[in-house]
Parts: sequence; structure tokens; C-alpha cells
Amino acid sequence: MDQSAIDALRTAPVAQGKLWINGEPVAAADGGEMEIHSPADGTLLTTVARGTRHDADRAVAAARAAFEDGRWSALAPTARKKIMLRWADLMEAEMLPLAVLGVRDNGTEIGMALRAEPGSAITTIRYYAEAADKINGEIAPTSPDVLGLIHREPVGVVAAIIPWNFPLMIGAWKLGPALAAGNSVVLKPSETASLSLLRMVELAHEAGIPPGVLNIVTGDGAVVGDALGRSMDVDVIVFTGSGATGRRLLQASAETNLKRCYLELGGKSANVVFSDAPNLEEAAKVSAGGIFRNSGQVCVAGSRLLVERAIHDEFVAMMAEAAQAMKVGDPLDLSTQSGAVNNPTQLERNLGLVETAQREGGEVVTGGSAILEETGGTYMAPTLITGVEENHTIAREEVFGPVLAVTPFDTEEEAIRLANASDYGLAGGTWTGDLSRAHRMIRAMKTGVVHVNTYGGPDVTVPLGGVKQSGNGHDKSLHAFDKYLDLKTAWIKL
Ligand code: NAD
Repeated sequence: MDQSAIDALRTAPVAQGKLWINGEPVAAADGGEMEIHSPADGTLLTTVARGTRHDADRAVAAARAAFEDGRWSALAPTARKKIMLRWADLMEAEMLPLAVLGVRDNGTEIGMALRAEPGSAITTIRYYAEAADKINGEIAPTSPDVLGLIHREPVGVVAAIIPWNFPLMIGAWKLGPALAAGNSVVLKPSETASLSLLRMVELAHEAGIPPGVLNIVTGDGAVVGDALGRSMDVDVIVFTGSGATGRRLLQASAETNLKRCYLELGGKSANVVFSDAPNLEEAAKVSAGGIFRNSGQVCVAGSRLLVERAIHDEFVAMMAEAAQAMKVGDPLDLSTQSGAVNNPTQLERNLGLVETAQREGGEVVTGGSAILEETGGTYMAPTLITGVEENHTIAREEVFGPVLAVTPFDTEEEAIRLANASDYGLAGGTWTGDLSRAHRMIRAMKTGVVHVNTYGGPDVTVPLGGVKQSGNGHDKSLHAFDKYLDLKTAWIKL
């Protein structure tokens, strides 16, 4: 990729964001709008419709009507596949503008955004498009006088509520399987990362997705998100975001129609480094990327570093060096390794948690402060905190920022105990040259993902989901279809 092509798009005018309901771009019912400021430099990019409860209800009604009349749900799966593949092609044709638009909106460094945002969203849409005509039913092995058929049917109306960190990628993780399976969707992006998704939805319509099948309602979580959570006509909520919002959605479901809620929540993932790791320098470099890229706004970020005491000081020095060498700043510069923190509130939260860590006995080895304030953007230095004990706040609470908490251990048993001493269970990592130990760690870590001798990077072919308070259900892989398909039994007397 060439920097001049990115620079040419830096200040491109950004269209005003409308809602997409029933195949049409529309304003919010009351005309409300939200200002969208770039975290890169604070500039006003555009305004986006601030949807109301009424808009959420209208979008659900459009999705329901589309589902019931079969314009998508009753199409031959090969026809759905064709349209979704065309959609992925359209996205690919404007991959760079999509990536740049997303970066201006959410602050992710462009190198990562190109791979993880349009890049991975396109791969994901293609993956599920190709799977659309490979969802088979089953014949049950029952007695010879009956035929037991197991049908797999779309659930109906899916509401997808997603966060700011990777809108296109996480959006595609939900939209891909939901649409390939024949459902209709109402998508609710984050207040601070909606622009690239709005374009993605527009392209879906250009590709031929029928009106009402894919709707998008921007606006406040407490209004639009809550209305979707409380809708009597939404069958399934698929959510990625914080535990606090996940709890609200479960409550909204309990108080209304008991819609199923699949929650992909946060993490406090342990990255365990043993002294027998094959290459400590490589481990330090990759581990630094595993927490500091995208300013730590990665749900699986390895935010707790557990290091065997024998190599603690040496490894901390390597990590500090890697953190200091990391180029933080202008997210549209290809050489930047970590872009902006998504919003000022998040930056304040990050800094507050660093202060708490220090008050509780942690020592800031490097970073710990906001930087580049003169740019008008929100940036934070990669931060390494040593002397963290398992009961410290920084060892227990997700920061969702570039902050790494370091704790030493003496034995494998202690490493396992510390790794699992968390309410979360999303991801983790282990660095060792001992194959048996690697497998013991995989089995022992109570998480949905375990990396071995690397951190980050699992592609769409493998599931992502958490255990404990990191949530339930899985995005990615063919297992994701489980959320979007109901089983129906047909029992036929022969
Ligand atoms: P958030 O929970 O504040 O917001 C997520 C979405 O929920 C947004 O679209 C928001 O508008 C909406 N929302 C807010 N209040 C709502 C309400 N009352 N009812 C319904 N919807 C509401 O989370 P965030 O700050 O945008 O994202 C960061 C969090 O997401 C972190 O905790 C992070 O770990 C988590 N995350 C998890 C994964 C994963 O796959 N497990 C991936 C990315 C991010």
C-alpha cells in the first residue's frame, strides 16, 4: 500500500450519515443528528442521524415484513450467496476508501485497519456466502416406521449491536452468518464508529440485498440499543460490547419476549511467558503488539502478562523497550503501530485505571500518560505496570486501553491459578518450548481462545467466544450459524 493513496483520502468530504430502513436512507424520525469528531485530531467529520425508539421500531417492522414475505429468507441459498459475493466484491473495489473512512472515525492505525477492517470483513462475508448453500438438514437414525427430519431454519429478525473497535470486522462476523442463513437484520453501530458501516450497508443494497433485509439505525445505545433489546419482534440479539451493556440486554430480554441474547463481552486475558519460551525477544515483540495495537482496544488483548520469575526482569526490560519503540500517533500514517484512543471518555478511563494501579502498589515502568495532545486527538503512551498482584484492580478490570499489568510467578501451577483468577474468560496465551506444557496450558486455561507461542491473529475459520463473564455463543467459523438457525423436528409416520 502506498502512503500517497491514503493521503489523498485524508480530508475527503464525508457524507452525512442517514439511517437505512427498508432499503432507503432516511433521517431520524425527529430529525436528530450526532456530530462525529475524529479521534485522530478532533475535527468534525460529519453528522449522523441520531435514531429514536420509533426508528428502531420502524427498522424492526421492516425486517419482520421482509422476513415473513420470503424476499430473502425464501430465496434459494445459491441466490443469497451470489448477492453476498457481489457485496464482498463491491467492498473490495473500495477497500482503501472504506478503511480510511473507518480510521478517521474510530482511530485504528491504518495498517491494522486495512487487514482487520475491510480486509477481514470481505473475507468473512465471502466465507459465509460460500457456506449459504452448505447448511444441510439431517435424517435422524430412528425406527423404520417413522421418518425423523431435522430442519435448520432462520430464526427471523436479528438485532446486531456492536462496539467501536473494529466495526466492519465485528459487523461482518454478525451480518455474514445471519444473512447467509436467511434472516433479516437490524444493525446498531457504536455512537463513535458508524461511518464505514453505513457505507457497507449502502453497498449491500447496491449488490442486491432486498429492502428491509438489512437495516441500520445509528444513535445512542441507551435509546436505539435499548429499544432493540426491548422489542417484542426481535428474535435474537447478537451483541459485542461491555459486560454492563450485556447485563442490560439480558434484563431487557427477560422483561419482554425472552429473545435469545448472545453476548461477546470483554476480557482480562493472561499472556503467560515461561522461561523455556523458544525466543524471548520474539515473545516480547509479539506480546507488545498483543496489547498495544489499536491502543489496546482489542477484546482479546493480552492485558495481563504473567512472567516466570527467573526471567521477569529481563523480559520486562524487553517489553519496555518494545513499548517505547512502538510508533503511536497519526492513524493514517502507514508506519504508525498504534493509533488513537477512540474517544475522550475512554482515554480518561484508561488514565484513571493507571492511577488506581499506582495507588494500589503497581509501578509504571513506561508510559502512563496521554500524549500528542497538541494534535487535538486522543492518544496514550503504551503503558507497562509491574508489581501487580492478583487482587489489584488493574489485574481484574478490563481497561480496553494500551495498559499491561505484569505479575511474576514461580511454577506452572501458580501460572495456571493466576491466569484463571479472573471473572473473564475470553482469551489467553502461553509461551513455551515444551510441547507437553503447551498442551497442559491449553487444557488448563479457562478461556475461549488460547494462543501458543504467538498472540492474536486467529482467522474466520476458527470460533471466537468467551466463557465465564466474557459471554456466550461464538462468532466466526461454521459454529456461528448456531446462533442464527433454529432446529425444527418433523416426525413423519410412514
Ligand atoms: P458498550 O457496551 O458501551 O457499547 C457497545 C454497543 O452497545 C454500542 O453500539 C452501544 O451503543 C450499545 N449500547 C450502549 N448502551 C446500551 C443499552 N443500554 N442497550 C443496548 N445497547 C447499548 O461497549 P463499547 O465501549 O463500545 O466497546 C468496548 C467493549 O466491548 C469492551 O468491554 C470490549 O472488551 C468489548 N468487546 C468485546 C469483543 C468480543 O468479541 N468479546 C470484541 C470487541 C469488543
